[in-house]
Formats: sequence, C-alpha cells, structure tokens
Amino acid sequence: MIQIDDAGSGSLVGGTCIAALRLETGEYSYDFIPISLYQNGNFCNKLYLNRSKDIVFNLIRKLHVDKKEEILVCQGYMFDVARKHLNAQGYNWKSTKILDPLQSIIEQTFNEYALGLGVPVQYVKYTKYPLHFHRILRWVYADYPKRHKLCKTDWKSFKKYGNLDVSISQDILYKKNYTCLGCSKRIRPGTRVKVLKYVSNRPNIIYLHPSCLSQDNKTKPRDFSCSGHMILKSDGSFLPC
Ligand SMILES: [Zn+2]
Repeated sequence: MIQIDDAGSGSLVGGTCIAALRLETGEYSYDFIPISLYQNGNFCNKLYLNRSKDIVFNLIRKLHVDKKEEILVCQGYMFDVARKHLNAQGYNWKSTKILDPLQSIIEQTFNEYALGLGVPVQYVKYTKYPLHFHRILRWVYADYPKRHKLCKTDWKSFKKYGNLDVSISQDILYKKNYTCLGCSKRIRPGTRVKVLKYVSNRPNIIYLHPSCLSQDNKTKPRDFSCSGHMILKSDGSFLPC
C-alpha cells in the first residue's frame, strides 16, 4: 500500500514537497515543486498542479507501483490534477487524510529542506507553529535581496506584506541573548548594530551585525530543487538506495 502526501504548500519560504511511501517495505521517495512555480504569475496559473501530477507519476514509477496496488492520496487540492490522471490510467487509488507514518516523515523532509534554505533552526523546530508567516517574514526582511527570491511571491499575503518600506539606522544593542537574523549568530551586548524597521501587521524591529546587512541586489538565486529515494528502517532512520 502506498501513501502520497504533500508538505510545505503553506510555507512562505520554499517550494512544496510531494512524497510517496510504501508501507510494507518503507520505500520512500520525494521531490519538490520548485519555488519558481509560485513566482512571476505562475501560481495564479496553477502550474504547480501539473507539476504535482508529474511528480506523483515519477514517484509511482520509481516505486514500481502496479495498477492493482492500493494508493492512498491526500485529499487536498494539491492532487486535483494527479487524481484525474490516476483515474484515467486505471490506478487503484482513493482520497483520504494521510496520517503517519508518511505525515511525520514528509514534514521532516520539508523541515530539513527549509533548514537547507538557511531558515534558522528555531523557526523550524521546537515551535508550536513552525514556519509561521510573519515570523518567516522577519527572516526574509533581514536579508531581503537574497531571501525574497526563496518566497512564494505570488501569494496575496506576500503582495501585501512582502514589499514594505524598511528604514535602516544604527544603534548599540544592550539586549542579551539576541540572535542576528542575518547570520544566526549571537550579537554581543554593547556592540554596534544595524537596525531595520518596518510595519507589517505590527511594528517590527530587526537588529543585525553591521557586516550582515546585505546590499547585494544582484545575487542569483541558487537552485534549491532536490529529490530523494530511500528506505525507511524500523528504527525511523533511512537507508539510501
Ligand atoms: Zn550577523
């Protein structure tokens, strides 16, 4: 039996993960809908639905799923196009809410991907609402030239809050235990900082090491697309295959 689910479609940062797991053997395969399909008008055209379908069929091929094997597909909109094609091709599938084990595994895959994009670990783990929009937005504004390119910029919420005026000033930071949102390292109390201020749904202040304020608007986005194929072992770890 195969589970198919998505993760990250609600995260401002990054693309969306699509993954498949065979319950009997732990074979696990995933790929990402790239961020570019959430930018430059592509989101409104729903190109991500076709890409989701392509990924689903690639994963099915990798896992050698035949037409008799039962496939459980998440009931969300992300698989609207995939479901039509599964029907047309005569697969044995049904829509359902996807629970564990895939639910936890795919969340972990997305979290690791977000960490790979540079999102601070405390934004991803140890928090009740990981990758919360306004919290992630602070991280984006801390290095806007690089990080806005990692965002689902076609979102209405990004259009509303993603291009705000930011004032930059200098100050001395006296707070203890403040982490620079540029480099994720501590800022020593009593040292000079750059201060970014903007107003989203509330006033925001961000302190950075002076050298962590990026002026570079010409940085090219890295290609963050990634995929994987592995076996989930009974102890929860993975074997590459
Ligand atoms: Zn820094």
